[in-house]
Amino acid sequence: MARFEDLLRPTPNGLFCPPGDFFIDPVRPVDRALVTHGHADHARSGHRHVLATRRTLAIMALRYGEDFADARQEAPWGERLSVNGVNVSFHPAGHVLGSAQILVEWEGMRIVASGDYKRREDPTAEPFEPVPCDVFITEATFALPVFRHPDSRGEVRKLIASTRQFPERAHLVGAYALGKAQRVIRMLREEGYHDPIYIHGALKKLCDFYESEGIDLGELRPATIARAKSDEGAAKAEFAGAIVVGPPSAFADKWARRFPDPVSCFASGWMRVRQRARQRGVELPLILSDHCDWDELVETIAEIAPQEVWVTHGREEALVRWCALKGVRARPLHLVGYEDEGD
Ligand SMILES: [Zn+2]
Ligand SMILES: [Zn+2]
Repeated sequence: MARFEDLLRPTPNGLFCPPGDFFIDPVRPVDRALVTHGHADHARSGHRHVLATRRTLAIMALRYGEDFADARQEAPWGERLSVNGVNVSFHPAGHVLGSAQILVEWEGMRIVASGDYKRREDPTAEPFEPVPCDVFITEATFALPVFRHPDSRGEVRKLIASTRQFPERAHLVGAYALGKAQRVIRMLREEGYHDPIYIHGALKKLCDFYESEGIDLGELRPATIARAKSDEGAAKAEFAGAIVVGPPSAFADKWARRFPDPVSCFASGWMRVRQRARQRGVELPLILSDHCDWDELVETIAEIAPQEVWVTHGREEALVRWCALKGVRARPLHLVGYEDEGD
C-alpha cells in the first residue's frame, strides 16, 4: 500500500510529489511548480510551468515580469485539476490576496500543504477554509505558546490615536510590501481614518493591483519629497501627523530621514518580542501578523483533526511536541529556504 511519503516528500528543492512530478513552492527553478502565494520565498521566477491561483499568477507577473515562467496555468478556487494523474485543488489560506492551501489527492490519500496561513479576519485576503485531510502540512512561524497576537483592530486604533497625540510628527509604518501594507491601509480606512496615506514607491504596483481587485484603499499619495533643502518647512508641514507606509527595508536608508521627527512604527507579528522592537528602534510596535499565533495553530490542527501533521518552516519543535501530547502523529520536515522574518 502506498504511504503518505510516496505522495509528497521534502527535498532540498522543496516539497516534491513523485507520482505527479511537481514541486510545491520550490526554492529553485523546476520543471513544474505549484505555488501557494506570492511572497518571494514561496513564489520564485524561472520555473518552466507554474500552476497557481489567478491572483497569485498576477502578483508573480507584477514582481518578476510577464516572463516569470515559460507557461502558467490558473487554478480556480476549489476546482479539481489533474497533474500527471494526481488530483490537486486550491483552497483559500487567508494569508495574503490569492494565497492558497493546496490539496493533493492520490490513491485515497489526502494531503493539504497550507503554505502560509492565518485564521484572523483580514479584509484584504480570502478567508481560510478548513479542508479535511489525512496529512496537514503546517507552517510554524509563531509556534511557541508565548506568541499570542492581540486584536488586530486594536493595533490599528493605536496608530490612529498616536497621529492625534503627535499631530506634528510623521508616522512611518514599516509593512511588508505584499499583503501587510494593504491590510494596514484597508484597516485604517475601516477604523475611520480617511486622510490621504503616503506610500513608498515600492508599494505602488501592489496597492494598484489590490485596488483593481476591488479592495478600496482610499486616497494614496506618493511619499516623495523632491524638494530643495530650503523647502524643509514645506515638507514638514505636508507630512506632519501623516501616515507613511513603506517596506521595512526602506526605513534603514536615507529615505526615512527626510520626514519630520518621525514616529517609527513596524507592523509585524515579531513586534510581540519587545527586544526586536527595541533593536529596530521601533517607537510604536504594531503587532499585526499574517501568520497564525500559537492558539490559532493548535485550534486549526484540532479542527481539521488529520491523522498526521507535518511541520515546516519556523519553530517546529513545540508544535510537534503539542501534537504528540494530543496523540496526533507529527514530524518536522526541515524544509529550508523559507523566511518569514518580514511578517
Ligand atoms: Zn507568506
Ligand atoms: Zn512563508
